[in-house]
Amino acid sequence: MHIGLIDVDGHNFPNLALMKLSAWHKAQGDEVEWYEPLMPEYDKVYMSKVFTFTEDYQWAINARQIVKGGTGYGLYENLPAEIEYTFPDYSLYPQYSFAVGFLTRGCIRKCPWCIVPKKEGWIHSVNTWDKIKRPDSRDIVFLDNNVLASEHGIAQIEDMIGKDVRIDFNQAMDARLVTPEIAKILSKEKWIDGTLRFACDTYAMIPILKRCVSYLEENGVKPYRIFVYTLIQDVEESIARIMAMDEIGVQPFGQPYRDFTNNIEPTEDQKRLARWCNNKAVHRSTRFEDYSNENRKAYKRRGDAE
Ligand code: SF4
Repeated sequence: MHIGLIDVDGHNFPNLALMKLSAWHKAQGDEVEWYEPLMPEYDKVYMSKVFTFTEDYQWAINARQIVKGGTGYGLYENLPAEIEYTFPDYSLYPQYSFAVGFLTRGCIRKCPWCIVPKKEGWIHSVNTWDKIKRPDSRDIVFLDNNVLASEHGIAQIEDMIGKDVRIDFNQAMDARLVTPEIAKILSKEKWIDGTLRFACDTYAMIPILKRCVSYLEENGVKPYRIFVYTLIQDVEESIARIMAMDEIGVQPFGQPYRDFTNNIEPTEDQKRLARWCNNKAVHRSTRFEDYSNENRKAYKRRGDAE
């Protein structure tokens, strides 16, 4: 069979589902490549779209069968088990040298803005770090949504201490679950870029984040190494939260709220606050009230990255 793949979001991060599909089809003897519109008709084309806000593929597809998948299409089905447990074909993304995978899926919480509980259900174990690691790289980016809610997840993190691996949990860890013991485990890990990621999506999380940061600091992890995803819904409340995080000394990263269910885009104010928050130079030197679109253009002219 001749198989075509389309990473609809662009190639900004290795698409795990497409890499597994590629590996599985190659193991069946099929020919697999990125979809090329000028090629003769494909037997099957897989289109994967992770994000709802990226544009869909705009052109006609020349294939006998087209299979779409991913949260970006509102499709939450898992891959068939034999494909899900296939080691990914990293040759699709030679520009990335790290492994990606999940130790756990699902979550114990039901935050109203989040699709994870609907998509993945209750927290459950799915893999071990040594099966995810690439033989040619020591870096693993885990995509777990709440790894600290799982005993298996914590045991896996503990098992990586002292091994030749550097890790990242790029969907963030849950600060509510960081105890002095967990902080000690996390502090012994080698982190990619030295960064540990958490989330702080409501003001009620501020004292909890503060406690988590103090436990980590007691174990030698400086607050500036802590990157905090910051949901931006109510702009006034989000400004207060960002300022509280500045005082704690962590790095807030603003994410304007997108209503996935009703496909509603963030407002201009939410996007402007995220831009202000995420540009450290601007954020440290200018109050948000003074950060107008005019100022933004001036910062751009001066060459400040946004
Ligand atoms: S804790 Fe995180 S993954 Fe779990 S429901 Fe809330 S936002 Fe989603």
